[in-house]
Amino acid sequence: MARSSMEESKIRVMVVTPHPDDAEIGAGGTIASWVRHGREVIYVVCTNGDKGSSDPDMTSERLAKIREQEQREAAKILGVSEVIFLGHPDGGLEDTPAFRGELVRLIRKHRPNIVMTADPYRRYLWHRDHRITSIVTLDAIFPYARDHLSYPGHIAEGLAPHRVNEVYFWGSEDPDTFIDITETFSLKLAALMCHASQVGQRAELLKQWVEERASKVGQSQGIPLAEAFRRIEIIY
Ligand SMILES: [Zn+2]
Repeated sequence: MARSSMEESKIRVMVVTPHPDDAEIGAGGTIASWVRHGREVIYVVCTNGDKGSSDPDMTSERLAKIREQEQREAAKILGVSEVIFLGHPDGGLEDTPAFRGELVRLIRKHRPNIVMTADPYRRYLWHRDHRITSIVTLDAIFPYARDHLSYPGHIAEGLAPHRVNEVYFWGSEDPDTFIDITETFSLKLAALMCHASQVGQRAELLKQWVEERASKVGQSQGIPLAEAFRRIEIIY
């Protein structure tokens, strides 16, 4: 049943990213490729990234504005059709019913077939916002968005329960799915470079590192350049 609903209409993808720039690093080539193949991709950006600066003269308020603009430009390059900013402070996410409810509401509203986010189970050093975004996203998908008795206020608003079919995690230590990004690698790089406040003087080094990584990931699969994911399929 789930499979046929994915085949019938345009496949919708929701990318839930902890900070502006994470989605481009983890999945930019795949996002651009999917858009080229007719999938509709939207972003949900959980935090405003307002701590990501080493400039002593930078303020959180100014940085949040800069990063929102950078994220819009990067998303445009990849062909993302909508960017939703939740505006939580950088480093301020918690696993709460309120945050989960925000994601459940967006899933019920936009009805994605596929959700992409960071891998919640990366060990040791992993930004707290990445861990919390991804675990709350997974919980929001299953079981909360599915069950009409969870967050019943949404149902009263006219939003029906929704079943997501697949989840792709970037940044996984146990990837099982490799997407060819050879054709869209230049778009990934261009999108990444939009995040000037983060890239700073490291642009060339970063480009080199991203290419080396895509090449290394692709090598094991016989693909020139690839991105790696852990993928789960949800059978209801
Ligand atoms: Zn991040």
